[in-house]
Amino acid sequence: MRREDILDLLFNTPWHELRLRAAHVLESAKGFHVHVRGLVEFSSNCRRNCLYCGLRADNRRLQRYTLSRERILEAAAAAAAAGADTIVLQSGEYAVKPEWLARVIADIRSRSDLPVTLSVGEQPAAAYALWKEAGAVRYLLKHETADAKLYAALHPGHDLRQRIACLHTLASLGYECGSGFMVGLPGQRPESLADDILLARRLRVAMCGVGPFIPQAHTPLGKSVGGSAALTLRVMAVLRIALPWANIPATTALATVDAASGQRDGLLAGANVLMPGFTPSDVREDYCIYDNKNRVDLAAARQAIEGAGRRHALDMPHMANAPAPEAAARP
Ligand code: SAM
Ligand code: SF4
Repeated sequence: MRREDILDLLFNTPWHELRLRAAHVLESAKGFHVHVRGLVEFSSNCRRNCLYCGLRADNRRLQRYTLSRERILEAAAAAAAAGADTIVLQSGEYAVKPEWLARVIADIRSRSDLPVTLSVGEQPAAAYALWKEAGAVRYLLKHETADAKLYAALHPGHDLRQRIACLHTLASLGYECGSGFMVGLPGQRPESLADDILLARRLRVAMCGVGPFIPQAHTPLGKSVGGSAALTLRVMAVLRIALPWANIPATTALATVDAASGQRDGLLAGANVLMPGFTPSDVREDYCIYDNKNRVDLAAARQAIEGAGRRHALDMPHMANAPAPEAAARP
């Protein structure tokens, strides 16, 4: 696929035509099933200072937390009991010791047969290898933007090449890799969205998440204008056409800028994954990546899937004896 073709789809093709094309590709490449991943945001500690993110190290206004091993296991059990098909463990970068996380992964694996996905940023190859050994099988590391200059400006002390090198390391260790990017970042040129899609295609990532940038008040970009749901949906539809094989989530960020129908519209634009949150309620607000974060819970996921006329396995719990979601979520 050429850059011009992608740009044409992104900016010149009427929406109903684009959505229909994406729906056809989705149906033939992935079918009607929607995967439901149970997200556990286990620590808000982060060593980095990404300009857009509320978890950045310099944000002193944020109440930091790290869940105990027991609480992570409870949250994972709740997700499994509710019918999630994967447990996603997410945190800031270098939030916990690699050995500690390895034990958590091994414990989750010993209690349920669900795959574990990690989303804990750029780390040494030895840590990636340790977690793989412990049983993690997938890793989400968004490239955030394919514009190398913009990437460097948004990530002090880091560059896009390092990020891509991490994705290669993860793939060489046998992880199924996911990338992704934001739409509407301050300074993002419209054409660079085509480069984002081409980069994800070139990397042949198994997953790719696209969400609108949303300002967070206590960051350097707190007063910037955020990305729109409409453009995010267009980008998702083109992504589906360009990466038919990929799993594409309807992100929480999309559900935040369009609380009424963002998740359902994301599915209609070509997504086939939802990621409801199982982070315990007493710390949920402290995982404040951006302001007014919508809570995508199980009921909202179910409603979006049914609203989009798609199928899920939420009524087939994996662990009959695990605690009910609400009981496990209590502090
Ligand atoms: N620390 C890990 C990392 O950066 O890969 C994982 C956690 S990080 C909070 C997960 C994702 O949140 C990032 O990849 C980024 O795309 C997204 N994110 C952070 N700040 C955001 C914002 N203000 N608006 C939209 N998405 C944001
Ligand atoms: Fe940390 Fe990830 Fe937020 Fe960057 S995006 S500040 S690495 S949590």
